Amino acid sequence: MIIAVPEQRVGEFHPLNGKPYRETVTWYRYRCTVCQHSPAHALASTAPGALEQGAYHAEQAQCHAEGQLTLFPDLAAA
Ligand SMILES: [Zn+2]
Repeated sequence: MIIAVPEQRVGEFHPLNGKPYRETVTWYRYRCTVCQHSPAHALASTAPGALEQGAYHAEQAQCHAEGQLTLFPDLAAA
């Protein structure tokens, strides 16, 4: 299962007319509850965006029910 975890980071902004300023920005990072994969570089600006990246991971890494069974071939064959 893929979940979106909010993560706050301070970003520095440089407006064209004005002083640079810092502001806390919330990003979303996906976490795969099957393999605990949650790459630090995979930050999305919205929760659905993070879930979309996570869904891609789950597909590539086979992180779903059938994928788990292949980790335990003895159980799957029983
Ligand atoms: Zn995974």
